[in-house]
Amino acid sequence: MTDIRTVGVIGAGQMGAGIAQVAAQAGYDVILSDIDLPRAEKGKAGIAKLLARAVEKEKMTQADADAALGRIEAVGDIAPLARAQLVIEAATEREDIKRTIFGNVGPLLAKDAILASNTSSIPITRLAQAAPDAARFVGVHFFNPVPVMGLIEVIRGLGTSPETVATIEAFAQRLGKVVVHAFDAPGFIVNRVLMPMLNEAIFALGEGVAGVVDIDTGIRLGLNHPMGPLTLADFVGLDTCLEICKVLLTSTGDPKYRPAPLLVKYVEAGWYGRKTGKGFYDYSGPEPVPTR
Ligand code: NAD
Repeated sequence: MTDIRTVGVIGAGQMGAGIAQVAAQAGYDVILSDIDLPRAEKGKAGIAKLLARAVEKEKMTQADADAALGRIEAVGDIAPLARAQLVIEAATEREDIKRTIFGNVGPLLAKDAILASNTSSIPITRLAQAAPDAARFVGVHFFNPVPVMGLIEVIRGLGTSPETVATIEAFAQRLGKVVVHAFDAPGFIVNRVLMPMLNEAIFALGEGVAGVVDIDTGIRLGLNHPMGPLTLADFVGLDTCLEICKVLLTSTGDPKYRPAPLLVKYVEAGWYGRKTGKGFYDYSGPEPVPTR
């Protein structure tokens, strides 16, 4: 098993920042990278805010929060990732972007370092082809928000070694997360089941079956879900939802996964949900307001 002391995270967006936070809280040194330093620093500033809130709510001591933040180094280039024994890629859900990243970062890594992807839907076996060693490449799928959600899906590609899986299991355990193992099939377990539901809710909205609030309330109370599907889609990011639907559609060829036209339209408008301030709800005021 690889002895992990330093974790590299590529992409300091909502998932990358969350992964960096939980890894730092578990005592790992973390290198948080993005396309440029301001983006990486923005991710770290978001973590600082969450840690400060945890201190305020007396869920964490100031000393622990300071120590966790002190273990995170924000960087704007990939060179420092050479120091990491585990690098988790959490960049934009596009295969071309991820492949380029693996091509650039792979040669920097130590011979026993593990490269992992937090992809929501892209096949791990295929992505592994862009990595230096398929045996040390694995899918490590966190859930949003990472500090709150207790699950990690571990996806083994065809070439992933048992040692790599064992290392990730130990890492997940130290983070306090439960692991489920999924075969390398499109959407793995959770998104395979979730995305058709979110997409169907968007179809229903687009067809005028009901408005945003009625759809969300119907599912929340009728199925006892903690939040409605449109709220959840905004939370995941509509761009990410669209990319996952496209991957499910193209990799299975099954038209049941075709993205709802309204989802495509929202993404074309730049309405990605919470992260851009607008999606099925407008988040600019004190309370979210439905946009339809
Ligand atoms: P996001 O848009 O919040 O963040 C993506 C980050 O990647 C951005 O900061 C962007 O600048 C950065 N990035 C893009 N290209 C890069 C590059 N070449 N090098 C370094 N950084 C780069 O997206 P997110 O929601 O954090 O999703 C990231 C990944 O996590 C995706 O693969 C997504 O499918 C997956 N994921 C998302 C969720 C979710 O609920 N949002 C859940 C599980 C997994």
